[in-house]
Amino acid sequence: MSDSSIPAYADTRKIFQQEDIISGNLGLDRLPRFRKTLANDEGSVSLELKFTFGEAKERLIAGSLQAQVNVFCQRCLKPLAIALADDIKLALVRDEDAAQRLDAELDPWVCEDHKLDLAELVEEQLILCTPIVSYHESGECMNQRDYVAGEDAAESVATENPFAVLKSLKNSDTSD
Ligand SMILES: [Zn+2]
Repeated sequence: MSDSSIPAYADTRKIFQQEDIISGNLGLDRLPRFRKTLANDEGSVSLELKFTFGEAKERLIAGSLQAQVNVFCQRCLKPLAIALADDIKLALVRDEDAAQRLDAELDPWVCEDHKLDLAELVEEQLILCTPIVSYHESGECMNQRDYVAGEDAAESVATENPFAVLKSLKNSDTSD
């Protein structure tokens, strides 16, 4: 699976000026924080990002992402395939002060130098659009019969609980 079409970094001095469009696939190996919330390495992430200037010269990043990944079902704790899709609409800013001055409808993405880390940006959007809990369809869990007495199963994975990981990622300050 090639992901060569998404470069590691984009040069923020050029991409908005040139109205670049970056699209392609990203391997889960390039999304380690997101990978931690998943059941396994199987899956795909594709995206398209457009870089333009807004009316007030804001540096806009707009686009969309789609992902097919496997999370843990919180009922039976087995892998569950889910599809994620999200629109991206961000404004690139140099620091938190600039973020404060943005239009309320624009979400800031802070990049202090000229190197925009594309995987990091996509990873954050993926984490934000992943549901905190997911379940198999009713009746499709692997161990329905164990479910009633399933507290032990839940206990045994508590140390590596992916939901806790996801929650903490969502709650953590994204700017550091
Ligand atoms: Zn299940």
